[in-house]
Amino acid sequence: MIEIKSHFSLKEHNTFGISAFAKAYTSVSTIQQLREALAYYHNEEVFLLGGGSNMLLLNNIERPVVHVNIKGIDLLKQENQHVYVTAMAGENWHDFVIFCIENNWAGIENMALIPGNVGTSPIQNIGAYGVELKDTFVSCNVINIKTGDVKTLHLEDCKFGYRDSIFKNEELGKYVITSVTFKLIDILKTNDYQLKTSYGAILDELENLQIEPSIQSVAQAVINIRSSKLPDPKVIGNSGSFQKSYY
Ligand SMILES: Cc1cc2nc3c(=O)[nH]c(=O)nc-3n(C[C@H](O)[C@H](O)[C@H](O)COP(=O)(O)OP(=O)(O)OC[C@H]3O[C@@H](n4cnc5c(N)ncnc54)[C@H](O)[C@@H]3O)c2cc1C
Repeated sequence: MIEIKSHFSLKEHNTFGISAFAKAYTSVSTIQQLREALAYYHNEEVFLLGGGSNMLLLNNIERPVVHVNIKGIDLLKQENQHVYVTAMAGENWHDFVIFCIENNWAGIENMALIPGNVGTSPIQNIGAYGVELKDTFVSCNVINIKTGDVKTLHLEDCKFGYRDSIFKNEELGKYVITSVTFKLIDILKTNDYQLKTSYGAILDELENLQIEPSIQSVAQAVINIRSSKLPDPKVIGNSGSFQKSYY
């Protein structure tokens, strides 16, 4: 069952902290609820909301806002030193990075503290400190907004480029991304995982911290560097390095 709220403030749902209002707002926490919401609004163009960190809300939103808040992380399979992990779209990206580090799964530690949700990460092929989403991306599940069809898009389908993908081009506005699957490395099962420390000030920060390079310490170095450079959007509203979403 979905709950529709009218004249809903989006102030807490965008990193600029702009107090725009949604004419109608629905938060969906299951695929079933998402399907219900899409069916309910089948004649209207919905406005999808993730973590609200890549949008500048200049006006109230007259389209129905569907907040994709579906949570869950699943270890699909382990193959030698690789793990295949699926995270649902509503998982916070940074929390997912920390979860992987805590499980000794390597590959996304350089992308700690990127704001936003897992479900939006493929749209611009998020990246930071020498690592991009596409480096560990296997596939994402999507629902076609108009038809309700479910599809799995693999790495080659997404045509990832620098902060770019089909989701910003030929397939713009076509799908809701519902989950993303990653291929990560279980560092307990290999001795030759190469940390990426040469980008930016990571090595300097590791020296400052006086700790051995590891996926944990690289993430901590990135967190420290990022925190010193950009204001925390929870304190001062901002949108990081700016992209292209104005509403
Ligand atoms: C302080 C700061 C630092 C940043 N640093 C970086 C950085 O280092 N690297 C980087 O790559 N980016 C960076 N960004 C940009 C931001 O982190 C990314 O663009 C992120 O992927 C946005 O995620 P979100 O969930 O907040 O998206 P939102 O702002 O909620 O949505 C972005 C777009 O995706 C659509 N959308 C939302 N959910 C879905 C869904 N499930 N399926 C399909 N479409 C959907 C929305 O309608 C909107 O058009 C930064 C932003 C901030 C504020």
